[in-house]
Amino acid sequence: MSDKKIKRAALIKAWQSVFRCPLCHTRMSVSQYKSLICKHGHTFDISKQGYVNFLTKPVKSQYQKALFEARRELFETQQFFDPLRREITEIISCLQSPQKPMTVLDAGCGEGSHVSAVCRALRTEYSVTGIGIDISKEGVLSASKTFGEDMVFAVADVADAPFGDSSFDMIMSILSPSNYKEYSRLLKHGGAVIKAVPQRDYLKEVREFFFEGSEKQAHTNTSAADRFKMNFQTVQRKRLCYTKPLSQTELSLLVRMTPLTWKRSEEKIQRFTAKERAEITVDVDLLIGTNPI
Ligand SMILES: [Zn+2]
Repeated sequence: MSDKKIKRAALIKAWQSVFRCPLCHTRMSVSQYKSLICKHGHTFDISKQGYVNFLTKPVKSQYQKALFEARRELFETQQFFDPLRREITEIISCLQSPQKPMTVLDAGCGEGSHVSAVCRALRTEYSVTGIGIDISKEGVLSASKTFGEDMVFAVADVADAPFGDSSFDMIMSILSPSNYKEYSRLLKHGGAVIKAVPQRDYLKEVREFFFEGSEKQAHTNTSAADRFKMNFQTVQRKRLCYTKPLSQTELSLLVRMTPLTWKRSEEKIQRFTAKERAEITVDVDLLIGTNPI
């Protein structure tokens, strides 16, 4: 067994108390640095990259490897979402005391770069257990390869997450679909959900270019906020809007990372990425909520 796999299995072992078997809902523990096993013997292997796949039936995802690679490059190296991550870190710091250890879940983590960046920043003050789940195996594989040193990633459904009740202090859901009922179950008493929802001007330059005159152009998300308010006690709502200048290379990464450009003609994509530079807008609402008492 490789050193890397042993180290990653040891990390899962250190945090194993949060896991529960997706089949029978009993506690799980790491066995021989190889797998997570419940008391009924349901076994989920730890892959050589250190992630665990909890899906009990295969799920086809449209999100492919190239998309996650583009995201990682644009988010990590080019810092496209740094202001958003700083804001999330700040919000968590205001809500949690550094005196006690904190468990953070990113539900729908994709290639894992948001949760890794947030946990990295928090670790200057907090002791953090950082876990990311996503239904896409390609995303989790990429996350585990890049950030698996001090984070645990798993292939799992956010609507049926493999964790016990009241396991997390913080749940992040960044620009991805949510299951609020499940998040309520997973949250500790006093814990909070931070949900980032795209707003009107989110990637408007991309939408205006590719969907001029069609309904996809307008981006509204009032219902997302209403649905959030029905499920959580809303502590805060913050709008974050900024633009980032992207180079030609970055623009082609952006085109590859967003489903907005799927099924667009190659000619149109080439015209978009022929620009030497463009300002791209990030416009999101951050909804911060706690379980109703
Ligand atoms: Zn089981």
